[in-house]
Amino acid sequence: MGVLKRYGKYLPVSEKTPSVNLEEGSTPLVRLDRIGGELGIELWAKLEGCNPSGSFKDRGMVLAVAKALEDGSRAFVCASTGNTSASAAAYAAHVGAPCYVLLPSGKVALGKLAQALIYGARVIAVGGNFDRALEMAREAAELKKIAMVNSVNPYRIISQKTGAWEICEALGQAPDLHVIPVGNAGNISAYWAGYRDFNVWGRSAVLPRMIGIQAEGAAPLATGKPCPNPETVATAIRIGNPVSAKTAIEAVSQSGGFFETVTDGEILNAQKALAERGGIFAEPASCTTLAALVKLAAAKKLPQGAKTVIVLTGNGLKDPDAAISQVEPPVKIGDSLEELLEVMA
Ligand SMILES: *Cc1c(COP(=O)(O)O)cnc(C)c1O
Repeated sequence: MGVLKRYGKYLPVSEKTPSVNLEEGSTPLVRLDRIGGELGIELWAKLEGCNPSGSFKDRGMVLAVAKALEDGSRAFVCASTGNTSASAAAYAAHVGAPCYVLLPSGKVALGKLAQALIYGARVIAVGGNFDRALEMAREAAELKKIAMVNSVNPYRIISQKTGAWEICEALGQAPDLHVIPVGNAGNISAYWAGYRDFNVWGRSAVLPRMIGIQAEGAAPLATGKPCPNPETVATAIRIGNPVSAKTAIEAVSQSGGFFETVTDGEILNAQKALAERGGIFAEPASCTTLAALVKLAAAKKLPQGAKTVIVLTGNGLKDPDAAISQVEPPVKIGDSLEELLEVMA
């Protein structure tokens, strides 16, 4: 029914807030017994790739756009590693407003670029990295008096709490471990805030340990050191200077969790495992979560039987190149039945 309808009474919306709805949220929480069994845990995956633009960004975008319209904004701008732009462009199109998208040049997955363009956004390739594109978007928003819909926009984070609320409702309470990729660090901050809400409201006695995963080449929070030139196959988390660093560090420390890193090789292995043994195709950033669980299990650092949720933040179809790069091409035959039966043997 859309996030603003399902959770409107817990969000900062009033009768003056325009109702914006692409039926985002209410995504599946799927139990993965094959993979969970191998790891010795009860594993659940939150399929955020099932959102209308294919990533969790829609949860926050719907409120950011509704509030911007309520406040009189008539245009939107964002900087993006891909999914924010896809989401902003989708909602802008839905409400009939122009949208400017700043992309770090040459580093955006093909599907995400296709989305921003087909939704009709004004797409601008910036000759700098994400962190620089974000600064530029911020300044342009101020000068042109248009709404900035990056996760520096507080409504994004507030509305992303709905992911945690849904998990608590689906499981009856919060899980033991919550494992989530960390880029700009807004989502981990939002989930922790959402779990604490359910705890305070008396709807979950449990609070999960928050485990934030970064790619080894873009791990400012996991290492505690700035990362001026982030590099990873997981382009959605290729970020060296996270905007929500402070709240992410709090989420991890208050919950008794930790940050972990995984290599690009581990990420791609996990992407393949998730598809082959779970039937789920998620983009590389999302697969850092399973990669980390595999790594922790191998080091005997995973509590046996722990009820564990991984957030699969984006759909695998967004980055077909990453998937194709690691699989065998199709078997080629002519048009005879004999050949077909032979390759099927
Ligand atoms: C945006 C994004 C992330 C990172 O989320 P943050 O809130 O920036 O930490 C992870 N995965 C995907 C697919 C994303 O689009």
